[in-house]
Formats: sequence, C-alpha cells, structure tokens
Amino acid sequence: MRFGIGQPEIDAVADCIRKGELARFQVGANGRIARCEKELAAMSGTKYALLVNSGTSALICGMVALGIGPGDDVLVSSYTWISSPLAPMLVGAIPRLVEMDDTLTMDPDDLEAKIRPDTKAIICVHMMNMPCDMDRIMAIANRHGIPVLEDACQAVGGLYKGRRLGSFGKISAYSFNNYKNISCGEGGAVITDDEELYDRARLYHDAGTFVQNYEHAVQIPFFAGQDYRASEIQAAILLEQLKRLDPGMEKWRDRVRLMRGLIEKRGGFHIARHNDPDSACALLLQFDTEAEADAFSQKHHCLRLINSGRHVFTNWAPLTERRAYRDDVNPLITPKGLLAKYDESAAPRTLDLMRRTCDVTPTWSMTDEQVAARVDAFYASPC
Ligand SMILES: *Cc1c(COP(=O)(O)O)cnc(C)c1O
Repeated sequence: MRFGIGQPEIDAVADCIRKGELARFQVGANGRIARCEKELAAMSGTKYALLVNSGTSALICGMVALGIGPGDDVLVSSYTWISSPLAPMLVGAIPRLVEMDDTLTMDPDDLEAKIRPDTKAIICVHMMNMPCDMDRIMAIANRHGIPVLEDACQAVGGLYKGRRLGSFGKISAYSFNNYKNISCGEGGAVITDDEELYDRARLYHDAGTFVQNYEHAVQIPFFAGQDYRASEIQAAILLEQLKRLDPGMEKWRDRVRLMRGLIEKRGGFHIARHNDPDSACALLLQFDTEAEADAFSQKHHCLRLINSGRHVFTNWAPLTERRAYRDDVNPLITPKGLLAKYDESAAPRTLDLMRRTCDVTPTWSMTDEQVAARVDAFYASPC
C-alpha cells in the first residue's frame, strides 16, 4: 500500500460483495480478474499476465512453466526474500547463490562464472525497485541458452532504461503483498510473452483448469496443478491500486532525484551505484566500514541491509539447515544438493556490502522541505 488505499478500493470491494462476485470464473472474460490481467500485461509491456494468490506462487508457477525440476541447478540472487530460492527448492531443484555487486543486485560476472552445464534457470531479483543489469544478464543468459526468471516482486512498475522490470526475462513474478509497490493484502502475478509458458503457469495455478471455459484455449495437455487462484476481491482492489502506480512511481522517482542531487552537490557520502539512475526509486549509502554504517543507521533510523531479517541469506533457515517437510523431497540433501553452500562462504561479498549499506530512500510523499531537512541531518551527524 505504498501509494495509499482508500475510498476507491472500498467501493470496488463493496461492488464485488453487492453483486456476489467473489471468485475467478464466476464472472469470466469481463470480470475484474480478466481486466486486471489485461491491465497488468499492458502496464508491463508483455502479452500475458496471470493473477495468482502470492508472489511466491508466481515464482513457483514460473519454475513449473520453465520445466524446472529435480536435480536442476538454478542460479539465484544472494540478496532477496527467501521465496526466490525456495521456489526452485520446492520443485526439487537446487538453488545456488550469485553474489551481488555494488548496485546491490546480481553481479553479472559472478553469474557467468557460476554457470554450469546443468544450470537450467537464472532468477535475478530487483530488490527495493533496484533493477539488475539486465543488458548484461540477458546477454550472458542468451549466450548460454539459459532462461531468466525476473523476480520483480519488489519492483512492480519499475523501469530499466525505459522498459518495465518483468518484461526482460522469459517469465517474471510480481507480488502484491502488504509491503509492495501496489497491494491487495496478498497477491501476485506471472508475467510473460510466451504463450506456452503462460499456458503451463495457468494449468499449474489451478488444479481444476480443465473444467473451465477459457476465452484463450490451452494448447497443451493438462497436467497436475495446485490452486493458486486469486479472487475477484483481490482484482477489484488491484484495479484501483494500478491507477495509483504510475503517478506514485513518478513522484517517488522525483523525490529520489531531489535527494540524490542534494547529496551529490555537497559530496562526502558514497551513493550506491544504480543500474539506471534516472529512473531510480531507491537511494542507498555505502560506508567504508561496518561500524560507520551501523552508527549512521542508528542515528538516522534507517535500515542497514544486514538487519533485514529473511532478506539476508544466512537467515534462510530452510536452506542453511537443509530442511524440507520430508527428506525424500529435499533436494538440498542429495549428493549434488549437499555441494551447494548457504553459509557465509556462499556469497561473502554480498554480506560485506549488506553490512556497509544503509537505505535512505525518501518516501514518495515527502515534501521538498522534508527531503532537504533529512539531508541536512545526514550532514549534521554523518556517522
Ligand atoms: C515479497 C517477495 C516475494 C514473495 O511474495 P509474496 O507475495 O509475499 O509471496 C518474492 N520475492 C521477493 C524479492 C519479494 O520481495
């Protein structure tokens, strides 16, 4: 709910309830879900969007669509929410961590160095709306013939060189949980240009698909699926939230530009490199030492990335402790899985950068005066 929630969402939900229209397929091609999917695809600049019940479900659908399964090697950004490595693990594959570079996104050099013959997918993550270096990542992936799944859960509406995040990879995941750019409480979407991948995601997201009368017929044989369906209520909220997205993101970019300009003019702080500074919705400061970053974060009540809980890979207990609900569905304790590392040695540079980096991104709604006052405070007490 970054850009607010209010009367339009209340009215939209009331309309669902008044009409008794709560479920997918109750309403069909003119329903809120169908409209929301069209708008999401249009916003993303892709052909297809599939609304699901969470970003995690969207990632799992992405893995299934790409045909990822037992024993496959999947390279994953080392700075992300735990769902990104869990998605391959849950389909039997083995996630392997790729270091970040000073942009706090996947390091293309480390990605290329880690590719092996059994690498079947790359999950790159645009954390906090910070785009990965998609030019280099796509070039590397294409050279090796490996599909990219963009985890754009934290970057819905974000841009990289004028194009939407989520439109670069073969398939992408969005999240609409409570902390994301736009939200319906819980929700997610699968984004793709590829009809077959879309069909596969659609079959997997709905175990009962074969009885539904889709406007777009599925061209592939039915296979066993889950139930990750979203409801009309979620779509009703999202349709209103989508109206807030671009105006909100534009204001936010402007706030970030203002703060960055003020800091650059005065100098002295090291602003984290960004892969597309002109459209940045994030501003982070990097310090020489962990102690300086810690002092700064405490003085200015901002997040030092290493303190962000399950966004730090050493806190991913199901991976670090190699635990699934049963050993025989646990890819991490197979001979190959045991070779993958999730302790500090898996991505030491990522941990070092996270210890030395503070998030000072202004909110989208700050006034010029508030931004200037915040910057003044940084200089009054730099660390
Ligand atoms: C939020 C998030 C997810 C998962 O989304 P949910 O909707 O909470 O399941 C996945 N990846 C990243 C990077 C996220 O931030």
